[in-house]
Amino acid sequence: MDFQQSDRMKKLPPYLFIEMDRKKKAAIEKGVDIISLAIGDPDLATPDFIIEALYKAAKDKANHQYPLGSGLPKFRDAVAKWYKRRFGADIDPKDEVVALIGSKEGIGHLPIGVLNPGDVCLMPSPGYPVYHAGTLFAGAESYLMPLLEKNGFLPDLDAIPLEVVKRAKLIWTNSPNNPTSVLMDKAFYTKVLDFAKKHNLIVANDAAYTELYYDGKKPVSFMEIPGAKEMGVEFHSLSKTFNMTGWRIGFAVGNKSVIKALADVKGNLDSGAFNPIQYAAIAALEAPDSVTENIRKIYQERRDLFAAGLKKLGWQFQVPQAAFYFWIKVPNGMSSADWCGKVLEEAGIVVTPGNGFGAEGEGYFRMTITVDKARLEEALQRLSKLK
Ligand SMILES: *Cc1c(COP(=O)(O)O)cnc(C)c1O
Repeated sequence: MDFQQSDRMKKLPPYLFIEMDRKKKAAIEKGVDIISLAIGDPDLATPDFIIEALYKAAKDKANHQYPLGSGLPKFRDAVAKWYKRRFGADIDPKDEVVALIGSKEGIGHLPIGVLNPGDVCLMPSPGYPVYHAGTLFAGAESYLMPLLEKNGFLPDLDAIPLEVVKRAKLIWTNSPNNPTSVLMDKAFYTKVLDFAKKHNLIVANDAAYTELYYDGKKPVSFMEIPGAKEMGVEFHSLSKTFNMTGWRIGFAVGNKSVIKALADVKGNLDSGAFNPIQYAAIAALEAPDSVTENIRKIYQERRDLFAAGLKKLGWQFQVPQAAFYFWIKVPNGMSSADWCGKVLEEAGIVVTPGNGFGAEGEGYFRMTITVDKARLEEALQRLSKLK
C-alpha cells in the first residue's frame, strides 16, 4: 500500500533543487572536484572543552533519565546570565527561558502553540523556510513580507495591507538574516515593537547568528529594546556560535506566556533535550569570549578574502555584516535556477538559487563561506573563468 501524505504536507512548497541535485550528481559521477558553497553548516569542529563537558555529564546516571520540560534549571540560569553578559538584557530563568532541540524545533513548533486556523503569520521573503512550514502545520496562513534591495533588505511594515495586519497574530523577523546577512539595528527593532503593540502581535525574532559578526560590530538583540518582553520572544542557537549544528541544542527567551505556550507544545510532543547536551551547552555559554573570538577570526579572514574576490568579478552584493552568507544578484539577467545550473556545470561550484528561500529571492543566489581559504581561492579562480 502506498499511503498518501496529508493535505498539509502537500501544501508545502515544491522542492526547487531537484535539477541542481541532478546536475551535482552527474558532475560527481564524472569525477569533477565539486566545491560546495551551498550549505549553512560550519565546517569547523566543536571546541574540545564542550565535548569534555558532554562526556563528563554522560557518565552520570542521573542524566540518563527524561529531561525536565523547559530545560535544566542550570541551563536556564546559564542562558539568562549569557543574555545579561552579552546583551545587558534581563531574562528570568524561572519562566522566561525554554530549552530547545535546536532552535529550528522551537521555530517550527511555536505556531502550534499560539496560532488558530485562519490566523495570519507575517514572515520575511526570502526567508528561512521553517517559518512557513510551522505556520502551515498549525493550519494558519503565511503572509510574506518582501525583503527588497531598495529597503535595505528590511521588511516594509507599512506596506502590509491593513486587512492582513488585522488577522495577524505573529510576526517573524530574522537578524542577522539568512540568506541576506543584513542586520536590524535598535531603531528598526523599535519600529517592529511599536507595530506589534499597535496591532497586538507576538514578535518572534530569530537570532541564530548574533555571535558570528565582522569588524568587531556586535549585532543587537531584540531583548535589548525596552518593553520587548511585553510583546515577544527571541530564538537562539548554539549551532552557529559554537559549531554545534549536529548537537541539536538551542533556546527561546522572552515573554512568559509565549514561552509557556511553546513549552506546553513540547511537553506534548517531545520531552526536551538530553541532559548531558544541556550540560555541554552550559559549558559553552559560560566560556570566555575568546572562544567565539577565535571562530570569528576565521570567518573574518574568509569574508574579507571572498568579498575582495567577488568585487573583482564586478558582482553586485552587500558585504555581509554578520553570518556566513553572501547574497548576490545574478550578474547577467538569467533566472536564479539557470544561473546556479551554469555555475555548477562550468565551475563545479554548488550555490543556492535565491528563489529556494521564497519568490522574492528570484534573481539572486546565495554563497556560503563554510570552506577554508584555499577552497575559497580556488572557487574565485574558477568563477573568474565563467563565460
Ligand atoms: C541555522 C539556522 C537556525 C537554527 O539552527 P538550529 O541548529 O536548529 O538551532 C535558525 N534560523 C536560521 C535563520 C538559521 O539559519
